[in-house]
Amino acid sequence: MNPDDYRIAPKSKVDLSGWNAADHADIQDKELAKAILKENRKVIIDLQERLYAENAQSILVCFQAMDTGGKDGCIENVFKGVNPSGCRVRSFKVPNSVETSHDFLWRYHQHTPRTGIIQVFNRSHYEDVLVVRVKGLVPKSVWEKRYEQINHFEEVLEDRGTRILKFYLHISKDEQKRRIESRLEDPAKHWKYSEADLKEREYWDDYQKAFEAVLERCSTKTAPWYVVPANHKWYRDVVVSTVIRQTLEEMDPQFPKGSVDVSQVTVI
Ligand code: AMP
Ligand code: MG
Repeated sequence: MNPDDYRIAPKSKVDLSGWNAADHADIQDKELAKAILKENRKVIIDLQERLYAENAQSILVCFQAMDTGGKDGCIENVFKGVNPSGCRVRSFKVPNSVETSHDFLWRYHQHTPRTGIIQVFNRSHYEDVLVVRVKGLVPKSVWEKRYEQINHFEEVLEDRGTRILKFYLHISKDEQKRRIESRLEDPAKHWKYSEADLKEREYWDDYQKAFEAVLERCSTKTAPWYVVPANHKWYRDVVVSTVIRQTLEEMDPQFPKGSVDVSQVTVI
C-alpha cells in the first residue's frame, strides 16, 4: 500500500467514477490491516506526545465523505489511545443563525489548532462548497469564489505551522445502500439514520461532481487531498493512519530541552 497513490496532485483532473472504492491494494485481509493500524497508532500516540511537548507545530485533519462514508468510525479507530489533552475533534453541522451571520470561514477558524495540538474536523469548511453548492444554498457567484478563499485560508494556517491533511472517504453508491439498510436493520444504529440520508442520496451524482471540483481546485502540495478507498473500513483505516503517521514522522517533533541543568537539582 502506497498512500501516494491516493494523493491528488495539484490542479489535476479528477473523475471519481474511475476510482475503485473497494480497492485494498496488497492488503489481503482484515487481520493484516488491523495489525498495521495498531502499529501506526503506537507511533501516532508517541509522536503526538512529542508534538504536544514541543508546542511549536500543529496538525489539522479534515474528513469529508458522502453520508455513511465512515468519518466517525475512521476517526474513532485512528485516534484511539491518543492523549485527549492534545487531540480535539470538532463536528460541523448545519450552521446556526449566529454562524450564518458571519463570513463562511468564521466558525471553522475558531477551531483551528493552536501549537501542539492535533485537531480533527468531522466535516469542515469544504461543506461550504459541497452541500452548499449542491443544494444551491447561496448563489454560484458566492460559492465559486470560495475555492480560492479556502486555499488562502489554509495558507494562513500553514504559515503559522499547521500541517493540513484532507481525506475524502470514497464509498460506492452500492456500498452506501448496504450501509443505510444496515442502519435500518440494527436498533443500535437507528439513531444514525436520518430521512435526510435518503434525500441526499438522490443527489449522488451532483455530490460526486462537487467533490471532484474540490479535489481539482483545493489539493495543494502542502495541504493535499487524499481519495481514500473506503468500502473496506479496515483498508480505509490503514490508508488514513499511514498518512498521519508519515506526516508526523516528517514533522519530527522534539521534546524541548529543559531550562535548567538537572544535574544541579536536588529534590529535598
Ligand atoms: P451529520 O454529520 O450526519 O450529523 O449531518 C450534518 C449535516 O450538516 C449534514 O447534512 C451536512 O451537510 C450539514 N452541514 C454541515 N455543514 C454545513 C454547511 N456549512 N451548510 C449547510 N449544511 C451543512
Ligand atoms: Mg448523517
